[in-house]
Amino acid sequence: MGVFFPTIGEHKSGEHAAEFATLATQPLSKHDALRLIACPDDELPALLAAARAAKEALKPGIITYSRKVFIPLTNLCRDYCGYCTFRRDPGQPGAHTMTPEEVLAVARAGEKLGCTEALFSLGDKPELIFPEMRETLRHLGYKSTLHYLEAMCELVLRETSLLPHPNPGLLSAEWISRLAAVSPSMGLMLETTNAALLNKDAAHDNAPDKLPTKRLRSMEEAGKQRVPFTTGLLIGIGESLEDRVDTLLAIRDLHDRYGHIQEVIIQNFRVKPEIPMSHWPEPSHGEMLRTVAIARLLMPRMNIQAPPNLTGPYHDLLDAGINDWGGISPLTPDFINPERPWPHLEQLRLRTEAKGQKLIQRLPIYPEFIPDVLTRENLSSQKLRAAADPQGFAQDKRAA
Ligand code: SF4
Repeated sequence: MGVFFPTIGEHKSGEHAAEFATLATQPLSKHDALRLIACPDDELPALLAAARAAKEALKPGIITYSRKVFIPLTNLCRDYCGYCTFRRDPGQPGAHTMTPEEVLAVARAGEKLGCTEALFSLGDKPELIFPEMRETLRHLGYKSTLHYLEAMCELVLRETSLLPHPNPGLLSAEWISRLAAVSPSMGLMLETTNAALLNKDAAHDNAPDKLPTKRLRSMEEAGKQRVPFTTGLLIGIGESLEDRVDTLLAIRDLHDRYGHIQEVIIQNFRVKPEIPMSHWPEPSHGEMLRTVAIARLLMPRMNIQAPPNLTGPYHDLLDAGINDWGGISPLTPDFINPERPWPHLEQLRLRTEAKGQKLIQRLPIYPEFIPDVLTRENLSSQKLRAAADPQGFAQDKRAA
């Protein structure tokens, strides 16, 4: 796709200007991506200008977000990622599996506040290593965490106007199909393609579900079934700059083959005192901006998202080419990064407008993916039809 970069000449001249100008006419090569993701500060304005122009060519003048409630169905997890504050072992303070009544109470409270997404976040298959979780599931009447998740997605669909978006970890072909009947989209962060992070003392030491080949297999299966899929990178967990580019290219490759990646999240590692990686350095704001910009230039036709509560000043991300802020809750905290509250929606709207963009509430499925999902007849598509406005955004657009 050709992109016009109006401000390149203002920042660069001569050889560099010519180099940036070629971005306008050719897809970004891996070689260029590797060079630009490490570009010096004096080249950053031109890189950002190129990324911003690519975003404007895709979705001019708008930035979307999803008004959501966060439903941490269970924080028990069989993995032990070095950066995670969400997971618990049974018996640890805060360990909890929500009851159906609790799920419905959160969903109904969100519905009153104009939310349209129920984001189900949960640990990966805790019953495989914890007898306590097997007992909890038996008491609730379900064979596995995924069976329980499926039932809770259906409960939210039946009883509220919210649309579920589950993030349950690795999924088989069968489970992608089952969950697609009760949710219009689902997600799994690829995080990184660097399998060495599973080595001793690395971020994914003792996190078997973070093996990149397994995650790519789940993502590919979703592609074969044409399920709109959310994925992304987690930067700053021990990967190299080349790993970041490789991870973006792996996501792009899957989307080129199946067309199902509805959004790519660029998330940055945040240090917390209680995690095994408490001594690790955080990626800098500049690294975050460079990664977002490279993602935009590698994937100029795809939705690029970065959360506003994990970096600052967050409105800079608009200059790096994002077109979406992700899920923002007026009700529930970010259980993954509880020390980093989401910005107030009114503040987010004002900062977005200050950059010349209109903030629009979307559903947990992007408008361009809705027609395909509506060709299936199931509870999820019925509720989606009712939730979407003629442009495919959220019907219930409260003032931010
Ligand atoms: S990041 Fe996810 S998979 Fe890893 S420990 Fe936390 S909940 Fe489990």
